[in-house]
Amino acid sequence: MTDATQTAPPGLLERLEQGPVICAEGYLFELERRGYLQAGAFVPEVVLENPELVAQLHREFVHAGSDVVEAFTYYAHREKLRMVEKEHLLEQMNRGALEIAKGVARETDALFAGDICNTNVFVGDDQSRNAARAMFEEQVGWAVEAGVDFIIGETFSWGEEALIALETIKATGLPSVITLAIHQEPHTREEWTPEDACKRLEDAGADVVGLNCIRGPKTMLPMIRAIRESVDGYVAALPVPYRTHDDQPTFQSLRDPDYEGLPDGRPFPTALDPFTCNRYELADFAREAHELGVNYFGVCCGAAPHHIRSVAEALGRTPPASAYTADMSKHAFLGTDRKIKQEYQEYADKL
Ligand SMILES: [Zn+2]
Repeated sequence: MTDATQTAPPGLLERLEQGPVICAEGYLFELERRGYLQAGAFVPEVVLENPELVAQLHREFVHAGSDVVEAFTYYAHREKLRMVEKEHLLEQMNRGALEIAKGVARETDALFAGDICNTNVFVGDDQSRNAARAMFEEQVGWAVEAGVDFIIGETFSWGEEALIALETIKATGLPSVITLAIHQEPHTREEWTPEDACKRLEDAGADVVGLNCIRGPKTMLPMIRAIRESVDGYVAALPVPYRTHDDQPTFQSLRDPDYEGLPDGRPFPTALDPFTCNRYELADFAREAHELGVNYFGVCCGAAPHHIRSVAEALGRTPPASAYTADMSKHAFLGTDRKIKQEYQEYADKL
């Protein structure tokens, strides 16, 4: 006698009921840095060209504390493939990314998430509404066939486009996470405040609403506070790990006064290194967001596993990677361990 409901692992909503859920993102940037994906078009062709590297990055993020393996279908949509004249690879790329993620999720007991995002065709008229919906439907269809546990719709700067994505996801009956991308102007492109847009998404049935990408911890947190106050359900916060501030609130708006040789005049997207948040800043963000009542955590473009481990540890977790969390007591010069030579400890100030 078998009872599937007794053995089924907890899904997204069951896990959120128990406490925070962490979802590592940032696959485009990390694989670009590693030399397997091209900045500019940012199409995840690496899924077909080097699938083992995508699987490895999924594993690294789970090792560091991610509860979710998000299929790398971000920007694997019809408009992006049309841009690089490879529309014929669309289905193969999506199915490939889903299979890779599913494999890692099953081997690690992580949740397996599908992913759709801003279409870059939506402009608020009927024609683009229909085009966006059709793009969502084909990607969501492949995700459902792959057996995802839930679907993420992300980085929408139009609230209405997010609502269409949500409708498409809801039609599947699967849980939904919908996050908005808020650029320099502190509202969506149709001028809904983030909290108003999230309220509309929640009222339309989104299970988790919030923000991801574009803004670093400092310029995302105030918006998250307002969202938390305006919605009743689960809230998501996934900043980019860059030191954005009031004058340059997005990672695209950051300017580098210390280097004039940037090929495109701005650090985004290939020269953001000097602005990268350290792991402790991400931990601070996670703690503050948790105190506000955020439920769904992560780090977006620019994230590396050490950031995810810090978020996980700030939330009281000890993922496998915590076995290697820093212990400076044994450092040859800076340590305090009794086995360290006194002459070396005394030299510490001269390092
Ligand atoms: Zn991002």
